[in-house]
Amino acid sequence: MPDNIPPRIVRNQALPADTPHVSVVIVGSGACGLTAAIRLRDAGIDCVLLERDAVPSGSTALSSGFIPAAGTRLQKSLGIDDSQALFAQDVTDKAHGQAAPHLVQAYTRAVPQALDALEAQGITFEVLEGFLYPGHHAPRMHAVPERTGAALMAALERTAAAAGADTLTEALVRELWLDDADGVLGVGYVRPDGGLEHLACDQLLLACNGFGGNPDMVAQLLPAMAKAEFGGHTGNDGSAIAWGRALGARLADLGGYQGHGSWVTPQGALMTWAVIMEGGVQINAQGRRFHDETLGYSEAAVYVLDQPGRVAWNVFDDPLLALARTFPDFVEAEKAGALRTAATEQDLARLIGCDPAALRETLAAVDAGRTDAFGRTFKRRLQAPFHAVKVTGALFHTQGGLDIDDHCRVLRQDGTPLPNLLAAGGAARGVSGNEVSGYLSGNGLLSAVGGGWVAAGTLIDQRQRA
Ligand SMILES: Cc1cc2nc3c(=O)[nH]c(=O)nc-3n(C[C@H](O)[C@H](O)[C@H](O)COP(=O)(O)OP(=O)(O)OC[C@H]3O[C@@H](n4cnc5c(N)ncnc54)[C@H](O)[C@@H]3O)c2cc1C
Repeated sequence: MPDNIPPRIVRNQALPADTPHVSVVIVGSGACGLTAAIRLRDAGIDCVLLERDAVPSGSTALSSGFIPAAGTRLQKSLGIDDSQALFAQDVTDKAHGQAAPHLVQAYTRAVPQALDALEAQGITFEVLEGFLYPGHHAPRMHAVPERTGAALMAALERTAAAAGADTLTEALVRELWLDDADGVLGVGYVRPDGGLEHLACDQLLLACNGFGGNPDMVAQLLPAMAKAEFGGHTGNDGSAIAWGRALGARLADLGGYQGHGSWVTPQGALMTWAVIMEGGVQINAQGRRFHDETLGYSEAAVYVLDQPGRVAWNVFDDPLLALARTFPDFVEAEKAGALRTAATEQDLARLIGCDPAALRETLAAVDAGRTDAFGRTFKRRLQAPFHAVKVTGALFHTQGGLDIDDHCRVLRQDGTPLPNLLAAGGAARGVSGNEVSGYLSGNGLLSAVGGGWVAAGTLIDQRQRA
């Protein structure tokens, strides 16, 4: 897309005379925008999704597509003991009490409603059982049967289209038009030929994710990730933050993000953390472990990047390989040649290129009932043959953005809400606090799906009151 216009605010000007009008414009057709569109259409409200790409993908399609939710119809039917309160506590604890409490409550309340409604509209979900991601106290990850973000996106797009939501692709939104009372009048967007077109609206939802695809902003705001690979969508260019700064909106939690310490290199794919949670370990080029892996994959990104060569090896054995192969991401990485196998400890040392004595000592410490210097307690010993996958630390998406209230209304510096501008998903602050270790697995799609659902509810209420 031609990108000759930076994100900007146009104030106190009338839109061109022939500008078409729609009730709600949604910027970005990822999980957040699509969830909101589905709810709006269900309430009979016309909306248009403006999407920069020719084929919507966003970070949603690149993700594993696991959405955490407590109290869904599906979870209850499986007899899983969980509650919104427990989920909210898990989110809060992972963020060391620093996650915005009003959003933790709003999103954990909304996400099961969203998933039940999506299921009622024909999307099939499964709950991932058999292991828990770090910090979760109940199986609550919901996924479509294919267990991929691409399949989740396809299902959301199908449902939104069937509900009558319009998507205009190759429409890169660059201008927000506002009146002198901060009311949004419409947007301007760039077309593939470089021309600028306009769309007037009564309400605007920013669902265009964060700034992970903007290297300058990452270097400035997340220096630990400045040289890390980015696993998300390049269209996450920080537009929402640029507009927020230009119009004087409040920003929050800009230091929060989802890292991942298991980004397969050089293939560039995600290796599931389930293998690590179930007994796998991370070993550096010196044959040493370097952290308690069970605390979380997000902060693991920073620890891995601190190791020699900025890499580590995920080391595991046959039972864990069987678990890994239940994840499509791993299957793809294995097909791409990422999996290495060593018959003995000596062979593994040769593969890693480390001192065999150091590796022997490291593996000997991984034993049933033993707690290591980092505080990790092991359930069993890893048995030969050993499997190893080389990984690095990556940035997946940012968790800071426009500050919003529990209705997803964008806030001014003084904390008052703008009249008709909303934001959710990665465009707004998330529920991970202000640093990498605050990210609980699933906070990304919790904010996107839960936030999209809340935002649509607010838009519906505002219309009913108007
Ligand atoms: C490898 C990987 C795995 C992940 N796995 C998980 C997981 O299993 N569970 C989880 O909860 N989270 C996961 N995440 C995070 C998750 O993908 C994101 O948090 C989530 O998809 C964000 O959804 P969104 O709708 O806010 O943004 P996106 O899905 O990125 O959608 C935003 C859309 O806006 C468009 N856009 C941006 N700017 C503009 C503009 N100016 N004009 C028009 N269009 C614009 C983009 O093209 C994009 O289509 C993962 C992320 C990665 C990278």
